[in-house]
Amino acid sequence: MKNGSKLYYAYSDYLKKKYGEKVYKLPINLPVSCPNRTDGKKGCSFCAGCGTGFEAMSSRISVKEQLEQTKHYIAVRYHAHKFIAYFQNYTNTFLPLSEFERYVKEALEVPDIAAVSISTRPDCIRSDYLDVLKNISKSYKTDISVELGLQTVNYHTLSAMDRGHGLAEFIDAVLLIREYGFETCTHVILNLPGDELSDSVETARVISALKIDTVKVHSLYIAKNTRLCKEFTDGAISVCLKEEYIKRVIAFLENLSPDIAVERLFSRVPEKDAVFSNWGQSWWALRDELTAQMLSQGSYQGRCFHYLNGAALDKIQGA
Ligand code: SF4
Repeated sequence: MKNGSKLYYAYSDYLKKKYGEKVYKLPINLPVSCPNRTDGKKGCSFCAGCGTGFEAMSSRISVKEQLEQTKHYIAVRYHAHKFIAYFQNYTNTFLPLSEFERYVKEALEVPDIAAVSISTRPDCIRSDYLDVLKNISKSYKTDISVELGLQTVNYHTLSAMDRGHGLAEFIDAVLLIREYGFETCTHVILNLPGDELSDSVETARVISALKIDTVKVHSLYIAKNTRLCKEFTDGAISVCLKEEYIKRVIAFLENLSPDIAVERLFSRVPEKDAVFSNWGQSWWALRDELTAQMLSQGSYQGRCFHYLNGAALDKIQGA
């Protein structure tokens, strides 16, 4: 980055720095739903109805069993010793508090779990849930990370996608989580219909200003049988070209604080489940194109990260 070596701060490096070795996330699928899919709400227009965890096991399998099975597979394949229990599907804090607590504690009964990661929505963060997590973190001596789906800071786009929350709920959730000292990860999609390159830039800036720890960037995939799928096949919406997406990722990274680790930059969803996914290319081929372009134009994460801390005052001589 700034000092030459890497184009962006990879999440794998972040974990290695923190735990001294490679750490792998083990997905858990709970029998939970989402406030945006209940009480007659139809969910986000891109929601595939499986809560985004395409590789997850059945939620009928116990948390312990899900973890044991995936852990065994990863440990054998990658010689891994440490893991993160990742509550991935749907909105994991949209459970009665006692149930939520029981599931998290069950995960921590499995050996070699170094941390727990909870995926949820910005409008499902409340002090009593964070209090429970704080107690668990202390008694099990484990790290807690909360993953929030934001997708974009453009609240017009959030509304068009029927997200059911705006930017304010996200800011509120991040500030509250920060009071508890937990890590935060933010999920964003840089090519939602209606968004432009400037939205990618502003998303990076807001995430940086809020000092989020890690970010997961997704390219939009349009799953079959979703409202977005219908709009796409009807021609009511379109997806930007691959070249434009790569431009947006570069602009996003250049504006992102170099301290924020990047977990991914392209979606990794089975193509068979989608009517549109990664322009028909593999995510690693797209990543190679991205890195080649970044190298050729001298781009790196944080190149434009000089807009905070009263940046305009830097122009005053002797300030
Ligand atoms: S927040 Fe997630 S689970 Fe809920 S409707 Fe949106 S995509 Fe689906």
